[in-house]
Amino acid sequence: MKSNHYRVVITDCDHGSIEEEKREFGLIGAELILAQVREEEDLIRACKEADGLINQYALLTRKVLQGLLKCKVVSRYGVGVDSVDLKAATDSGIIVANVPDYCIDEVSNQTIAMILTLIRKTAFFDRKVKSNQWDFHLGTPIYRIHGKTLGLIGSGRIGLEVAKKISTFGVKVIAFDPYLQKAGEGIELTDFDTVLKKSDFISVHCPLNESTRHLMGEQAFQKMEKKPILINTSRGPIVDEKALIQALAEGRISGAGLDVLEKEPPDPQSPLLKMENVILSPHVGFYSVESISELKRRTAENVSSVLLGKWPRSVVNQQVKGKTRAVISL
Ligand code: NAD
Repeated sequence: MKSNHYRVVITDCDHGSIEEEKREFGLIGAELILAQVREEEDLIRACKEADGLINQYALLTRKVLQGLLKCKVVSRYGVGVDSVDLKAATDSGIIVANVPDYCIDEVSNQTIAMILTLIRKTAFFDRKVKSNQWDFHLGTPIYRIHGKTLGLIGSGRIGLEVAKKISTFGVKVIAFDPYLQKAGEGIELTDFDTVLKKSDFISVHCPLNESTRHLMGEQAFQKMEKKPILINTSRGPIVDEKALIQALAEGRISGAGLDVLEKEPPDPQSPLLKMENVILSPHVGFYSVESISELKRRTAENVSSVLLGKWPRSVVNQQVKGKTRAVISL
């Protein structure tokens, strides 16, 4: 294939391989360079002549973005774009793109897996049997899943997928989401207090921001009437861990499944590490071989789309429309 002489630079990444990205840019004959730089001056030097950037952790400050002579697009691996000064990118006519939906299947499965593990006490029994305790009475009572109510806090992409999957177990789904006018299929939208009051399982799927930090705090735990199981696969600080530990210790909730914590990794002294009715995973919800492969391919596709004169699938700085450096025709 004739080269378009496009140059794409990956500022930095901690993935083992960049084969997916190479394949994508091979399709348009673009050169791909893995710079592995994080410092401002190094970034400017490595990316000055790039037509497009892929970025993971390196901070793309205003100074860095202003030092890019040709860059038309920055595509971030994943959802968050905190590493990019969005205003500065917009001012320079650089499109910023992300991949917000590469791991919906994985995170929703992590949520369902945690609910099932806690209800059927599989992790608990595994520990017992392996310590030579063959006695199901150790884990009684166990309640039926069918007929129970799951309350979602946030009913976006992941919440909806959780609802769809858990409904096949005969679970009713209610949700609190202040930004939705209409519930997804099979979900009843309601207010926050009703979710707390009526749910047997509560699962957090809202973003972390100033209004959701410690949303699940002491007051919320006091309003839970059915001793629910709490699942958090979203962001740790949405749950006030001190209040959670107290609610667990006092038996006001039946258990917790946490993929994310306020402090990751947790303090070795955290009581959560010793509680039999708490299951933990190391912020792994996003991960599968397939999700990472999809993430890498789609991060690269965002860049090649722009270089080919098309809008990427997900533009973060919508304000850039009308003043892009790239000529977007499609
Ligand atoms: P999304 O944007 O599709 O959905 C979030 C929903 O939360 C939206 O419908 C929004 O209206 C709602 N919301 C916003 N503020 C709220 C509030 N105060 N109370 C209740 N609802 C509120 O996002 P998503 O793709 O479903 O992802 C949800 C979260 O999952 C992300 O914010 C991210 O933190 C987390 N996540 C975790 C992992 C992991 O590895 N564990 C991976 C991906 C995403």
